[in-house]
Amino acid sequence: MRTDDAKLRAELIRTARSMNERGINVNKSGNVSARCRRGASEGYLITPTGVPYGELEPEDLVFMPLEEPLDAASAVGRLRPSSEWEMHARVYLERADVEAVVHTHSAYATALACQNLPIPAFHYMVAAAGGASIDVAPYRRFGTPELAKAGAEMLREKDACLLEHHGVLACGVSLEKALSLAAEVENLARQYVIVRSLGEPRLIDEEEMREVLRKFRHYGEQPAREVKR
Ligand SMILES: [Zn+2]
Repeated sequence: MRTDDAKLRAELIRTARSMNERGINVNKSGNVSARCRRGASEGYLITPTGVPYGELEPEDLVFMPLEEPLDAASAVGRLRPSSEWEMHARVYLERADVEAVVHTHSAYATALACQNLPIPAFHYMVAAAGGASIDVAPYRRFGTPELAKAGAEMLREKDACLLEHHGVLACGVSLEKALSLAAEVENLARQYVIVRSLGEPRLIDEEEMREVLRKFRHYGEQPAREVKR
């Protein structure tokens, strides 16, 4: 597991800024975190609430221990953590393999989430999220333990989901993977909205998607290589 150090803090800030560059952080609504150890405590480092990513300094990031019961008061840092800190915590508790979590309100994915429209297998890249569809977690109020649970539950089997009337939740084995998945979900959502405007979406059949997923997992075994489209 990684340690809460200057290198990780710099990487987290770089990831947060790339959310802006990729256009998936709308009005500071996005947040990102990375699992790490700080002293004897296991937890995660997360972006603070209300600070534009261009102005983020390493000391602005907040360390949250992963100890039950989860408590905002256990935060270590000079600022308050993102209001969705608990959703990040629940994903880490649910998925021992996950090292980073990204949350966004990116436009097209959020539009689909608002209409409770999951993204089906209209394109093989849907498999990048780990299944034959990207599903929608039921609406729960922002910043609540209920939303945290609903989001984390959807990530038990897959690496990304939409959050009804809210946005996107994505995770990965590294900050780069989680960020690139969140960006891919937005890309797929945009393509899917266009496809829907052309008529009834045509889907890849189940058997073929199983094969695509098998191939994706195979690629996943070679961490040095990215899945190419
Ligand atoms: Zn949000």
